[in-house]
Amino acid sequence: MKVRVRFAPSPTGFLHIGGARTALFNGLYARHTGGTFVLRIEDTDVARNTQEAVNVILNGLRWLGLDWDEGPVGSDATGPGKGSFGPYFQSQRKENYQRRVDALLSRGLAYEHEGAVRFKMSRDPVRFHDLVVGEVCRELTDREQVEPDFVIVRSDGQPVFHLVNVVDDLEMNITHVIRGEDHLSNTAKHIALFRAFGVEPPKYAHIPLILNLDGTKMSKRDSGASLGTYMDEGYAPEAVVNYLALLGWSPKGNREKLPLSEIIALFDLPQILRHNARFDIAKLNWLNGEYVREMDDERFYEQSVHALARAGLDTNKYPVEYVKAALDTCKGKVKLFSELPAYAGFYFREEIACDAEAVKREFTSENRPRLAKLREALADLEPFDHDRISGTLAAVAKGFGVKTGVLVHPTRLACCGNPAGPSLYHLLAVLGKDRVLKRIDGALAQMS
Ligand code: GLU
Repeated sequence: MKVRVRFAPSPTGFLHIGGARTALFNGLYARHTGGTFVLRIEDTDVARNTQEAVNVILNGLRWLGLDWDEGPVGSDATGPGKGSFGPYFQSQRKENYQRRVDALLSRGLAYEHEGAVRFKMSRDPVRFHDLVVGEVCRELTDREQVEPDFVIVRSDGQPVFHLVNVVDDLEMNITHVIRGEDHLSNTAKHIALFRAFGVEPPKYAHIPLILNLDGTKMSKRDSGASLGTYMDEGYAPEAVVNYLALLGWSPKGNREKLPLSEIIALFDLPQILRHNARFDIAKLNWLNGEYVREMDDERFYEQSVHALARAGLDTNKYPVEYVKAALDTCKGKVKLFSELPAYAGFYFREEIACDAEAVKREFTSENRPRLAKLREALADLEPFDHDRISGTLAAVAKGFGVKTGVLVHPTRLACCGNPAGPSLYHLLAVLGKDRVLKRIDGALAQMS
């Protein structure tokens, strides 16, 4: 049997990190088995439905690199690199639901009640084997004891989630429903509907919820609950994919950093953990740093330029060689691209402001003659390169009978405005003589 899985989000304008993980698990299972990954937008709730809300989902999945494998041709939302087919939209499949409701009505498995259509729910307990949860036996709740039947089409003609979800899973030949545990309580209804259509239900795998580190439920309001946060803050998508894969799934040997190809090879449903996963931002940040360190140069430049642009720093005003050389001094130093504007912004600003605390410490009357002497020595340097700069600082410091470090701190502050940053001799060489002299002059003017 060829595996067919789906991610079936409702467009709420928000892609929860748990939804992103559900999408990923489906995508991973499809890739692992050589199956098909379907994206279905569950947009029957017209009131909440906007193109923007759909784009949040599509952009999030594209960012994660989760390509859907099929969909109607000619849709606006095209599958990444897959030609012009989009995901399925429930709003475009209304006739299917009507046809299925008519079938249930004519077989006496559903009936009309006050303008709505109700499904005749089984009174017996519904048992099924969930691939993650294990044996499940679902009996009618107290409320359902009183009224076991449930509405599948509202009196305004809108088909209800349970119906459309099942009709689509059935018509799209979905073999495995991998979704959040919050849907476990709906599954008895879904299975009863499948049976009413005379079809065996798919296999179910309900994955545990994602909790905050302190064990509380991760709600929409928790910072970091939205995938968009990680996109905006400049995380590397491969790090987020790796981290999400570990939320509720664990390869043997407790390994943590795994490339996607290996995750795909190892991923399988029986290894999904039964207990809830806790979201550990420190671990994600660590993983992100690892991926950024290993990133090839072109991607590192591209992501860096984006992060700087988001902070209003336009690198296009500078020669490409300068931008690359500047970013080379940041490689391996930043964990998140969002740190870059603070770390390396001084390369791309002609006027810099110096950290006030550090100014008090470093721009002292004692340091003034030292920095003035250094300025003089640097002005004569040709070429203005790392080794000559390093030799010059050492020689000037020696002349004053102080350690080189004494000169390093005020020089760094004068040239980048921060007490910390890329390696000093490298950054001075990249900034170039003109900027360095100008910045030292600016510092001298502030020193009494
Ligand atoms: N639209 C439902 C949701 O977003 C889908 C549930 C399912 O995967 O079956 O929760």
